[in-house]
Amino acid sequence: MEEERDPSSVADTSAAPAAPPVVPVARREGTPGITETIRKSLSEGNSGGGMPDELLLVQRDGSKLVRFLAEFDKGVPVIMHDKWEILRPQPCLKYYGEPCPFHVEAFRSVTWYVWTVWDYESQSKRVAMWKPTLASPVEDLLDLFDANGTIMDRDIELRRMGTGTKSRWKIRVQPPTPFEGKLSKPFSEEKTIEILKGLITKRTLEETGAKPKSSEEE
Ligand SMILES: [Zn+2]
Repeated sequence: MEEERDPSSVADTSAAPAAPPVVPVARREGTPGITETIRKSLSEGNSGGGMPDELLLVQRDGSKLVRFLAEFDKGVPVIMHDKWEILRPQPCLKYYGEPCPFHVEAFRSVTWYVWTVWDYESQSKRVAMWKPTLASPVEDLLDLFDANGTIMDRDIELRRMGTGTKSRWKIRVQPPTPFEGKLSKPFSEEKTIEILKGLITKRTLEETGAKPKSSEEE
């Protein structure tokens, strides 16, 4: 279920306030809590929106071959709010001219960084986003940038192992080659923010009493 709440399949929950307690399976079966959690996950699934098409998704124990179209130091910082089991990571509503009900201590506010990449598998531009934690590829990308001066001169395989609190990433750096994808211009900061709007779930807004400004399908 953690997988479904995860907006980009890159979310890391290791810094969450507390993981749910480990309860023996026998005791968990049929409890209202589990039912509620499943219901919530289902309602937040892809069919219910909240997963922008442009988001780079890397499945657990999977990988994606990408070319970064923006330099490491040009990653777009975005304030994301989340709360364990209550609110999956989503951008601050202030970006969209809304009062933000999550801009309070009860929710976490963490700056994520967003890069436009060319995804060879889908042959399209995607946004890749991570918190700068050890459970992300950000440190490896920084190392590459420090050593090489750029992360854009070669293809990079982003490999994800495990999920949630156990999620780890490794990057596999290819030799430098000319970029051969079709589109090389990164999304603008405005476009990036607009794409991330898709992470806001109507259900969450309703639950918290906030109202979306307009239809989520723009
Ligand atoms: Zn906010």
